[in-house]
Amino acid sequence: MSENVRVRFAPSPTGSLHIGGARTALFNLLFARHNNGTFVLRIEDTDTERSTEESTQQILRSLKWLGLDWDEGPEKGGNFGPYFQSQRLELYKKEVDRLLAEGKAYYCYCSPEELSERREAALKAGKPPKYDGRCRNLTPEQRKKFEDEGRPYTIRLKMPEEGQTVVEDLIRGTVVFDNSVLDDLIIVKSNGIPTYNFACVVDDNAMKMTHIIRAEEHLSNTPKQIQTYLALGYEIPKFAHVPMILAPDRSKLSKRHGATSVEEFRDQGYLAESIINYLTLLGWSPEGTEEIFDMDKAIREFTLERVNKTAAIYDVKKLTWI
Ligand code: GLU
Repeated sequence: MSENVRVRFAPSPTGSLHIGGARTALFNLLFARHNNGTFVLRIEDTDTERSTEESTQQILRSLKWLGLDWDEGPEKGGNFGPYFQSQRLELYKKEVDRLLAEGKAYYCYCSPEELSERREAALKAGKPPKYDGRCRNLTPEQRKKFEDEGRPYTIRLKMPEEGQTVVEDLIRGTVVFDNSVLDDLIIVKSNGIPTYNFACVVDDNAMKMTHIIRAEEHLSNTPKQIQTYLALGYEIPKFAHVPMILAPDRSKLSKRHGATSVEEFRDQGYLAESIINYLTLLGWSPEGTEEIFDMDKAIREFTLERVNKTAAIYDVKKLTWI
């Protein structure tokens, strides 16, 4: 690959690092190393209600234990830490202000109660339950009235109402979304904090990410993010959504299927090497029949083309205690 590959793992610190997150981090690292690129760690801690310092520490500990070391970050006592979104709020604000000034974003004073009432009514009338754009074109007088009343507001990005947003996914192929399903995206919450979709786009651009490799559950966010890239005038990176990890009975993976967090495995005496070996083969197929992969071998062989297109089945019994 001729371009300078830059990828990231961007966990939200709302719990411990589980097997799915560890695999996303590993695939990003393998892809970066295979292409002589850079692997960045970004802690997405703007959700102040759900983010905890304890989760951040657990995630960092688990990544270090697995040997998933990141390559850059702000300097911290001779060492570089990861990037923290909570320390980058000024950058997001600058970009929000730009969108407002360009008329691409607007203040929305609709309260959660009003929104849910109108959503219900739309559903009853057989219409799509999306935001009706009521605050899109408020007059200065109307805005002033809401401001004087001290009404809380969110900031929304105008989304196109027609056409399609096409995601050329490196794993899934072409995925087409109809723009009529896109709600005007909330980019700043009523507490003044940017939303995940917005902060993520601003950072992925600022950090010059070339490839966004992440779990499939985010595929539905990708058209919203692509529209945000377009509104901000950023170059759009390549996307690769890694299929889900399911339990052996194909149900959603949960505690009842055995250990699912990296720290649980560590505490049960598993070696980091066995977890890396297991995760490497969880949804990725090597060219040959080889089943033993250490990190170096995985780096040499890893390509996105060989990531499976269907869900991976998680079976804790296949993990060996080496
Ligand atoms: N903070 C998001 C998560 O933990 C990251 C999603 C992404 O990689 O864009 O799911």
